[in-house]
Amino acid sequence: MAQVLQELSKYAEKLVDSGLVVGAGGNLSARDGEYMYISPSGFDLKEVTGERWVKVEIESGKILSDLKPSSELEMHLECFRKDSNIKAVLHAHPTYSVAVSSAGKEIPPMFPDYPAMVKRVSYIDYVIPTTNLIAEAVGEVIADSQSVVMRNHGVLTVGSTVKEAYFYMQLTEEAAKVYAISSAVGTPRTLTEEECDDLRNLSAETYRSSLLKKQQ
Ligand code: 13P
Ligand code: ZN
Repeated sequence: MAQVLQELSKYAEKLVDSGLVVGAGGNLSARDGEYMYISPSGFDLKEVTGERWVKVEIESGKILSDLKPSSELEMHLECFRKDSNIKAVLHAHPTYSVAVSSAGKEIPPMFPDYPAMVKRVSYIDYVIPTTNLIAEAVGEVIADSQSVVMRNHGVLTVGSTVKEAYFYMQLTEEAAKVYAISSAVGTPRTLTEEECDDLRNLSAETYRSSLLKKQQ
């Protein structure tokens, strides 16, 4: 199997195993030259292997496989078309991210890896899934965001590898979880702007982030 499909299958499985999606929720894709591969619509992502990845031409949107692509195809295409550095797009329905953002809150930095690795998180209000409306809303913010939190729906992350997009997804959800638990216990102390800037400038963090940009 081509490397890009192996990567996609590996992280599709991880998305399910880590509980970031349930049932047939979520979808993921990766760029392969002028084409992309995306998960088929309505599948448990763990069952998307080999031939089931749907090949699509990025510029035209032409579908080159038999299975129906994810119903969020336009949202994925929009990301690849907006920024040539984007090589992978993940969309999941993580519990705490949906819970915190749907309460009208943003997900604050409370531990080092989140601000150090995820430079910018954007928020969009609820729009009906699978339509051009959600694709356009994501398209407006994706060029300078690594993570887009969609209120009452889920999260979309992008990266230069599938691994990088997956780490951003995990970190966004972990940050929302820590914030929710801290809010239940008392008053959360979030990291200050200065503390976040210091973390981003640490050579140790620059090295750790650079590893995510390498294929396995
Ligand atoms: P698909 O199964 O069509 O990819 O849809 C899942 C989803 O998350 C819709 O937002
Ligand atoms: Zn969704």
